[in-house]
Amino acid sequence: MWTGWDRRRKLFAAAFAFLGAALLGLLMVAAPRARQAQDDGALFGEARRGGLTVALQEAVGDIRVTEAKAPGRPIVLLDPGHGGADPGAPGVSGQVREKDLTLVFSRELRDLLARRGRVRVAMTREDDRTLSLDQRAAIARKLGAGLLVSIHMDSAPNPLARGATVYSLSDVASDAEAARFAMAENAAGGALTSERDASVRFLLSDLALRDQMQDSAALASRLVKSGGNGMLLRPEPHKFAAFHILRRSEVPGVLFEAGYISNADDEARLMTAEGRKPIVEALARAIETELSLRMVR
Ligand SMILES: [Zn+2]
Repeated sequence: MWTGWDRRRKLFAAAFAFLGAALLGLLMVAAPRARQAQDDGALFGEARRGGLTVALQEAVGDIRVTEAKAPGRPIVLLDPGHGGADPGAPGVSGQVREKDLTLVFSRELRDLLARRGRVRVAMTREDDRTLSLDQRAAIARKLGAGLLVSIHMDSAPNPLARGATVYSLSDVASDAEAARFAMAENAAGGALTSERDASVRFLLSDLALRDQMQDSAALASRLVKSGGNGMLLRPEPHKFAAFHILRRSEVPGVLFEAGYISNADDEARLMTAEGRKPIVEALARAIETELSLRMVR
C-alpha cells in the first residue's frame, strides 16, 4: 500500500524521468542542426551587393562590391593574406609585415580594377582583421565570385630568393617546396581543425572540382604570361598545391606570391607604390582577360 509520502516520491521520480527524456530528445534533434548551420557558414550577418543582400557569417561583416561599367559582370574577390592576430612573414628590414603589404597591394589592385570597370571587385578584408581560411572561402561562395585571388608575400631562408610565384589548386603538389608551403599556409589559417565535412562534400562535387582546378591552372598560366613584361618572376613561376582556401571557395582561384620580403631588393620594391605598380597592372590584365574569356565560353 502506498502512503501519501511514497506516492509523492514516485510522482516526483516519474516527472524527473520524463523531463530528462524530453531534454535528451531535444538535444538529439538540436545538435545535428547546430552542426549543419556551422557547416553552412552559420548565416547571421549580411553583406550588401548592389540592391541585393548576401547572407554571410557574423565575423565577415559587410563586404562591399564595386559596380562595373556594364551590368552582369562577374565578381573577382581579392583576398589579402593573413591579418589581425596573424601577421604572416616578417620583412627583412624589420619595418614591414606580410599582412600590411598584402592589404596595400590588394587595395591598389581593387582600385585599378574598379576604375577600369570591366569586372566587379570585392575584398575579403579591407582592414587589419583576423579571418580564418574557412571564412575567406565562405565569402567567395556566398558572393558567387567568378574568381578568387589570394595575395601573399613570400619568405625563404635563402636571402637571394626573389620574384613572384603563382600557385594553382591541385591534389598533387608540383614539388616538395610547394607541398610544404601549402601545409604552412593551411595551418596558419586554421584549416587543419575544420575538415569535418570534407569527405562527403568533396566526393559529391568531384566533377566541379576538376573544372575548378582547370580554371585555376588557366588563370595561373595567364598570369605568368601577362607578367612577362614588368613583373619579376621566379624561374618556374607556376606551381601547384592543395590550398585549403582555393579548394573550399569552390570558385576558380590562385594564390599569388608577389615577391620575397626576405630579400632586400624584393622587399624595397614591394614597399613602394611604383615598385608594386607593374605587378598590380599585370594581375589586373590577367584577371580581366580570364573573366572575359569565361563569359564567352
Ligand atoms: Zn602568406
